[in-house]
Amino acid sequence: MTKLTITIVSPHQDDAALSLGSFIFHRKESSINIVNCYTVSEYSPFYKGVNRAGVMKKRCKEDAAFRNHTPKKKIRFINLDEPDGPIRLNERNMDALLAERPLNDLDRVHLSSLRQGMAEHIKGLLLLPLGVGGHIDHNLACLAGLSLIKENSSIAFYLDVPYWLRTSISKIQERIQYIESLAAISLTPYVDPFREIWDKRLLSQIYSSQITAREVLQIVNAPFMGEIIVAPTNSIAKKLALQAIGWTDLNH
Ligand SMILES: [Zn+2]
Repeated sequence: MTKLTITIVSPHQDDAALSLGSFIFHRKESSINIVNCYTVSEYSPFYKGVNRAGVMKKRCKEDAAFRNHTPKKKIRFINLDEPDGPIRLNERNMDALLAERPLNDLDRVHLSSLRQGMAEHIKGLLLLPLGVGGHIDHNLACLAGLSLIKENSSIAFYLDVPYWLRTSISKIQERIQYIESLAAISLTPYVDPFREIWDKRLLSQIYSSQITAREVLQIVNAPFMGEIIVAPTNSIAKKLALQAIGWTDLNH
């Protein structure tokens, strides 16, 4: 595989690993930048009894461990230090954060700040969360990235794990159609031929403040271990298909 720069926008510090862990592991020749959007966080369902600083430290340690378990360690984490949904919206109820709703004024102000933070870090192939499942942070991370793409950008969207695994097919299709209409593109799904269950399991388990071993098993046993990407149906996508979705250099 040729060398490729890949930028993955990760709403929270576990999303890139849970949604694309195997994909990242097997791109040994690529330089991978992971842009973590919401790194100011107290969200830590399985690592309790610490304050905000303690949670943030733990989550950065998880990222460091992820990097250390990846071949060649060519991963760079960029933390944008935006406050996550529970802090920004003063909303600790997960169901409320996952409820689909139109953007409000607070979201729009925040979106502009997120967009500015993200802009200088987008290089090479851009992988954005599709924003399936309604999580407001995932939706905003997707929209901020989408607003930065240019006509000839190499872009694809990953389905958000674990949310898409709990979402109906019709809801996923609805989201795809929404993004297609926003970006005036047509999207086709792709899976990674190099996926490997043990790597995915190992890398997902690292994020133990966010996910249980049982949930990790559910993810690795899901279709394609949850790793599905939708990419524009144009010459780039055709090239992808011809190369058996090898994710080689998409910049040419
Ligand atoms: Zn997330």
